[in-house]
Amino acid sequence: MDPETHLAPYAAHSAHSRGRQFSEPSPSLRSEFQRDRDRIVHSTAFRRLEYKTQVFVNHEGDLFRTRLTHSIEVAQIARSIARNLQLNEDLVEAISLAHDLGHTPFGHAGQEALNACMKDHGGFEHNLQSLRVVDSLEERYGAFDGLNLMFETREGILKHCSLTNAKKLGDIGQRFIRKKQPTLEAQLANLADEIAYNNHDIDDGLRSGLLTIGQLDEVDFYARHKAAAEKEFPGIAGRRAINETVRRMINTLIVDLINASKVRIGDAQLKTVADVRSASTLITFSEDVAREAIFLKRFLRENLYQHHQVNRMTSKARRIVTELFNAFMTEPSLLAPDYQIKHAEQAGNLPIQARKVADYIAGMTDRYAIREHRRLFAVDEI
Ligand code: MG
Repeated sequence: MDPETHLAPYAAHSAHSRGRQFSEPSPSLRSEFQRDRDRIVHSTAFRRLEYKTQVFVNHEGDLFRTRLTHSIEVAQIARSIARNLQLNEDLVEAISLAHDLGHTPFGHAGQEALNACMKDHGGFEHNLQSLRVVDSLEERYGAFDGLNLMFETREGILKHCSLTNAKKLGDIGQRFIRKKQPTLEAQLANLADEIAYNNHDIDDGLRSGLLTIGQLDEVDFYARHKAAAEKEFPGIAGRRAINETVRRMINTLIVDLINASKVRIGDAQLKTVADVRSASTLITFSEDVAREAIFLKRFLRENLYQHHQVNRMTSKARRIVTELFNAFMTEPSLLAPDYQIKHAEQAGNLPIQARKVADYIAGMTDRYAIREHRRLFAVDEI
């Protein structure tokens, strides 16, 4: 049975895809995008997500989201919405599971530090790095580097891109230059990411004690859903009250996104993916809910991401990443052979060496980076 017959005509179909960089025979029992999803799940970078920070560093507690559980939540939300809009669930799942593969250890602090280290060598950006992981860093196949994913999966992974970088990326960068949209599946995965982190960061923030219920009562969106939970379950308290509130918030966001997007898709009178690319962004919240989502984001930035206790970890993370980078650049012989320059003609080429060091550091899990730092800097460690 063709797993894509039920899709809307403007959904991404394997048959109309722009294909893979290296041509391969079509899979017989699954769609091309199912194959992409499977390749991502089996990749090394995917397993590393388990020990990479979302907001809280992995060793701070067993129950906080990691990049892995975050990516699984994104995929769940994206698939629910895709099914309702008759979009390609396999493609949104593939994009969702891969969207954070290029993240450094220690979340945004790690990325900022690595970007600063790389400023004279082309910079570092986690979106671009995610694409680099699936395009070239994974070593799993005899015939090619990377995972050789479908164009639409790669395009969805590259959420943002500067014009300078877009010009270096060939096909995949074109839409940024020509100001075109990606598939609806890519637009959807992007917002599913936002729904996931806005909500789970509230949950993790409360669990950690860095956010309080008192603060959240000031956020109208939270307070309204909390009141609805209390109305249905009088006297509900503690974790159960938080969960009943957060699940209502997620539900409101998902239902609103489905309804608002349906209207916009209907108005745009789409027939094909080409129509999607030329239209405006069609997967959106309604205006009211978009405003609430922005407010929620701002609340989290001001009260959680910039909390002094998070800042302390952020500062430590910055130091670890920067010191690792400087040590490897000063003495490349400290690197494992895979990350040293192999070809004599590239010897002494700083941008090439810097990119290899950045790849090595970006691939590290939080605990590996901490361990590697200790191995290099603590005299009593080997
Ligand atoms: Mg994410």
